Amino acid sequence: MEPGGDGIAAGPREKCGVVGVALEDRPAARPLYYALYALQHRGQESAGIVTHDGFQQHGHVERGLVGDAFEADDLESLNGTTGIGHVRYPTAGSLDKSCAQPFSVSFKSGSLGLSHNGNLVNAAEIREDLARQGHAFTSDGDTEVIAHDLARNLLDADLVRAVKRTMERIHGSYSLTIMHDDTVLGVRDPKGNRPLCIGKLDDGYVLASESAAIDTLDGELVRDVRPGELVVLDADGTGYDTYQLVEEENTGHCFFEHVYFARPDSVIDDELVYEVRRDLGRKLWAEAGVETDVVMPVPDSGRAFASGYADAANETTADGDPRPDGDDGVAFAEGLMKNRYVGRTFIMPTQDERERAVRLKLNPIRSTVEGKTVTIIDDSIVRGTTSTQLVDLVKEAGAEEVHMRIGAPPIVAPCYLGIDMATREELIAADRSTEEIRETIEADSLSYLSIDAIAETLATGHEDLCLGCVTGEYPFDVEGEATDRDVERPAIGESPPADD
Ligand code: SF4
Repeated sequence: MEPGGDGIAAGPREKCGVVGVALEDRPAARPLYYALYALQHRGQESAGIVTHDGFQQHGHVERGLVGDAFEADDLESLNGTTGIGHVRYPTAGSLDKSCAQPFSVSFKSGSLGLSHNGNLVNAAEIREDLARQGHAFTSDGDTEVIAHDLARNLLDADLVRAVKRTMERIHGSYSLTIMHDDTVLGVRDPKGNRPLCIGKLDDGYVLASESAAIDTLDGELVRDVRPGELVVLDADGTGYDTYQLVEEENTGHCFFEHVYFARPDSVIDDELVYEVRRDLGRKLWAEAGVETDVVMPVPDSGRAFASGYADAANETTADGDPRPDGDDGVAFAEGLMKNRYVGRTFIMPTQDERERAVRLKLNPIRSTVEGKTVTIIDDSIVRGTTSTQLVDLVKEAGAEEVHMRIGAPPIVAPCYLGIDMATREELIAADRSTEEIRETIEADSLSYLSIDAIAETLATGHEDLCLGCVTGEYPFDVEGEATDRDVERPAIGESPPADD
């Protein structure tokens, strides 16, 4: 499926990308705009920038893609050398403009702007608590809840203590870039569920969801923001300070960032995402290889997996033995051509239209598949609609056998942490075995990658990953769902901690 939702089916969609910059004496608006372009795959519903010129905040937020949301005049009017930006596809909150970000609020001791990637699971409790104290909300999104909580804390605490107090109340997934007057901050939740990294530019510093945005600005990746860490960029662009505000024993990184959402050219946890996906492809061959004439990716989502899978297939047989001399293994081929100009499937909401969209979007190359046994590689199966159509398309084009191999485990449960993953009723693997799914999509065989292979490739234990959508057990206390660790929501409505 396609990250970012421009795909051939309504696959999981990343909800947001965030960025923040502090520059020495160059307007922040254009670098923010370019960085948002680099993060466009993380959200296509709206785009926004908030800057600060030392006296006041300037903002422009509009629905649509980055290229459509800003005119040249809009960028000119965003004065100031510091700012934050956001691309969004709605998670919590409705699809109207009041939920578009960055979210801005003015309060007694200054102004705040917030860009949020992730999703809180206790926003309703905090909203109720703040409403009782007289806070009025203009949207139903969880970002406004964070903004109000932080604004309240800033009335009687300095910036660092105020952020800490808010972090001790909010529970869930968040990577934030924040503007407090002309100061830009970056915060990552204590489990580091969503990515956030720091980059250095010639004349300043940048915080971004992915390192690809730093590359776009000709910057250098410094490192990931650590789980539970606050990074405060100097407003004059000359440096930054960091504060480890909350520390937890285990992290809960979203494994899907590596296998699905992030750009292949981004580096997360010191690993190039493209290479991680190639490694996963190699493991897929080791675990579930099937000897066929041709291996081909679903473009573009299956490409890195298929390349690793085919490489491994040319070194060993499906039984794991070295290939004898003269055995050429399997051919890697681009057997599916993609029409890049087909609109996003979610604007064609009926099942019939969605199925047609697959045919509009992909066309098999007959000579690659005719009379051959074929393995199709993709990164996930969500509803199963696309896989069914693909198998059908390739068989119609003359393939003798069509096998599906998937570079992630079956998705059995929804995501509550910032990904639009579909409901349990819609997820084909929620209540079906792999064999039942194979029958439904009419493939000759079907295999998924194991959870162990994911953990091994990401060089981490299960206990440091979020695996909620593939196990049904989450690293956060999600109402009505199981958790895979000892975790509880913070008590809301109590006084701020005395020791801060
Ligand atoms: S539930 Fe799945 S998609 Fe959501 S954060 Fe966890 S691993 Fe990522």
